[in-house]
Amino acid sequence: MRDFAYLRPREAGEAVALHARHSPGARYFAGGTTLFDLMKLGVESPATVIDVTRLEGLAGIDASRRGELRIGALAPMSDVAEHATVQREFPALSEALWKAASQQLRNMATVGGNLLQRTRCAYFRGAGEYACNKRVPGSGCAALDGLNRGHAVLGASEACVAVYPGDMAVALAAFDAVVDTLSPRGERAVPVRELHRAPGSTPHLETVLAEDELIVRIRVPRGPIGRASTYHKVRDRESYAFALASAAVAVQLQGNRVADARIALGGVATRPWRADEAERSLVGRPLTRAAARRAAELAFAEARPLAHNGFKVALGIETVTDALMIAKDRS
Ligand SMILES: Cc1cc2nc3c(=O)[nH]c(=O)nc-3n(C[C@H](O)[C@H](O)[C@H](O)COP(=O)(O)OP(=O)(O)OC[C@H]3O[C@@H](n4cnc5c(N)ncnc54)[C@H](O)[C@@H]3O)c2cc1C
Repeated sequence: MRDFAYLRPREAGEAVALHARHSPGARYFAGGTTLFDLMKLGVESPATVIDVTRLEGLAGIDASRRGELRIGALAPMSDVAEHATVQREFPALSEALWKAASQQLRNMATVGGNLLQRTRCAYFRGAGEYACNKRVPGSGCAALDGLNRGHAVLGASEACVAVYPGDMAVALAAFDAVVDTLSPRGERAVPVRELHRAPGSTPHLETVLAEDELIVRIRVPRGPIGRASTYHKVRDRESYAFALASAAVAVQLQGNRVADARIALGGVATRPWRADEAERSLVGRPLTRAAARRAAELAFAEARPLAHNGFKVALGIETVTDALMIAKDRS
């Protein structure tokens, strides 16, 4: 690990001003469970680390507003997973957090940092040993012809096939959540669905955020759609593992017909992936297992498997189908 300067502001405005002053080469640090990992691996080597853990007013969860739930960016993953309103109104969000990482990590890690975690692609993390366009633009992608069992079947490009690894962002994408950010240029709101970029020819650009933009909160719209929801995650072992395929699914029924449906995929795509066409196929019809399976197949219609990850298409279809049936049972 290289030497770096360590700064600890008290207010969000001070943090973004410090970041701007020390950019390029500065990084925010929240729980540190991704950032310090990548610094130890030599993938990231910021000259300045700005510790945001003491910023005032960013760790709370505010369920007092009728229209939306507000989650401070510094709220620990475990606090959000356990929050009574989250469990009651957004079970998929609570489950996505519970099924992520380990209890120790969930206590340490923040939801803001969770959204911005980076891929677990071994070629990306094996700093310097392998070609990786995400780490060194223009160097190539060792995963294309390498071991790509864990990689993306949706949203990949010739430049990058790395999977977005997080669970929570998948649930937030299903619920049309928004992140509020602060930078020296002011505040703005970014829908979670638009936060992460597809790799295209610039896989090193992972989000639409500027380097100095600080996530201050997440807002989740409240409504009937959240309650009958689930996060279904399939992985190599049932605990402490990233998703091979996952689905955040929500349904709202009127009588026995679907009035609204949300399907977001994880573990299979380069970014949190909403399956819009699959959702539309369910609306106005009874939610039978056959209808759920048809929707799941539509969700994977554009899948482009690599040499070792073809199983993710069949696994993903089963995962979405089962998730829809779980959500139906909860409606
Ligand atoms: C062994 C292991 C297993 C894991 N398993 C899973 C899993 O199954 N599912 C899953 O979803 N995750 C998993 N994770 C990832 C873990 O959830 C993330 O490391 C964690 O959520 C990151 O949060 P943090 O607060 O520690 O972020 P940090 O490491 O502090 O920051 C991460 C990134 O976000 C930036 N950042 C942090 N906060 C902000 C902010 N407010 N505004 C702007 N930028 C910010 C930092 O600069 C950095 O680039 C695992 C991690 C480990 C180490």
